[in-house]
Amino acid sequence: MCVGCRERRIKSKFLRVSKVAEDKKNKKNCSVFIDKTGKSIGRGFYICKDLICLKKLQKSRYFQKVFSLNAVLKIYSELKEEM
Ligand SMILES: [Zn+2]
Repeated sequence: MCVGCRERRIKSKFLRVSKVAEDKKNKKNCSVFIDKTGKSIGRGFYICKDLICLKKLQKSRYFQKVFSLNAVLKIYSELKEEM
């Protein structure tokens, strides 16, 4: 399911964002990246390859609840380049 528009689509329509926790004491201190293989372990998030969904995601602040602000800004700019 897309974290922007909440719709279900086939996997090839999505970009997968994966989270790797580096510090077990501080869950927000984790690295986040676009998982181009779709095979990485760790928690994954899907978003359509669509700027509209990226905007919806930014508006919902969903990622801010899961990641640190630095990680959020980094993944937003990386997603933008992929779309
Ligand atoms: Zn979407």
